[in-house]
Amino acid sequence: MKMLEEREAEMINIRRYLHENPELSFKEAKTAAYIADFYRGKDVDVSTGVGNGYGIVVTIKGEKPGKTVALRADFDALPIKEELEIPFKSKNEGIMHACGHDAHTAYLLVLADCLIQLKEQIHGTVKIIHQHAEEVPPGGAKSIVEAGALDGVDAIFGIHVLPMAPAGTVGYHSGYSFNGRAYFKLKVQASGGHGSSPHKANDAIVAGAYFVTAVQTIVSRRVNPLDAGVVTIGSFDGKGSFNVIKDSIEIEGDIRYSDDETRDVISKEIHRMVKGLEELFGVSCKLTYEPDYPPLYNDPELTAFVAKTLIKAGDKHIKEVKEFPKMAPSDDFAYYLEKVPGTYFYIGCTPKGVEEPYFNHHPKFDIDEAALLVAAKSVGYVVCDYLNIEKDGSND
Ligand code: MN
Repeated sequence: MKMLEEREAEMINIRRYLHENPELSFKEAKTAAYIADFYRGKDVDVSTGVGNGYGIVVTIKGEKPGKTVALRADFDALPIKEELEIPFKSKNEGIMHACGHDAHTAYLLVLADCLIQLKEQIHGTVKIIHQHAEEVPPGGAKSIVEAGALDGVDAIFGIHVLPMAPAGTVGYHSGYSFNGRAYFKLKVQASGGHGSSPHKANDAIVAGAYFVTAVQTIVSRRVNPLDAGVVTIGSFDGKGSFNVIKDSIEIEGDIRYSDDETRDVISKEIHRMVKGLEELFGVSCKLTYEPDYPPLYNDPELTAFVAKTLIKAGDKHIKEVKEFPKMAPSDDFAYYLEKVPGTYFYIGCTPKGVEEPYFNHHPKFDIDEAALLVAAKSVGYVVCDYLNIEKDGSND
């Protein structure tokens, strides 16, 4: 903890460098090179180009036997034009670290370096996952898991900065915590004709409109009211001419769900309704249905362990540890949690003196950089305690 405190300024500098040089998902070549460079000359195993992009996995092998714990920080930015006036404003026009991944990477680099220096005292192994492309499906996480990065890993932890609480607050949520998501596209093929003669045609717009209405009943009539689901039709492409019966239309939609059961209900219903639409209107349908990030499930035991560890730490920088609500967005950290137990927790970062902060993905999103040290210490305590439990079988 002392080492981390001494390197707070360095974390802030790294974060500012990354903030000034943001790169889009799957295009983070320079960011990845910067991260790899940080580890150059250090006594660790570094794998680059892991997964379907620029993922980096660093393996810190402690000198004593023990469990293996993984830590993940994402490093991609967003296609947003920054509206903050700060000295380290984005130099890449139209690209911004508006989700705080710059902060995630900065704290984890410094924490990793401290762990490397403490190798002889570590019981077990720490795997550091620097993940590319969190923001754009299919994301980087799934491919990093498939590349075997979690083989032999006992638990994984990660954090996200959130401006809903001040720096010094750490949040946790047990069980399902972020929504899962799916995308679909439906092409309805009917047959066109003259506007005056509907009996000689088959109207794709009418069929498509019934489908839009029908899917509204999935959430209202099929999803368990204690779970959450969303079915949004974001696009209905049926542009034509006023006196021509449209031969085909295309619909695109966004699906969200709080848990695996709701995911299955919505998917089944959409598929059933598409089949029914063909029967009902004599059209033919082509449905593309692609689930992407799963619902994020925080292991209850490890979530309780994190809360207990951080409260017990009594650290002056960790002022409050409390339960946070469920989050509506999605995060591909969920893929790691499908493979091994772990928990994704939250680091408050409301900018100083701000009462109503801008949220993640806003062009004025900002953080209190004091959150960096809080993140590093929190994850630091968790790693040390986790590996320690495994060493002597207790957490006391
Ligand atoms: Mn994010």
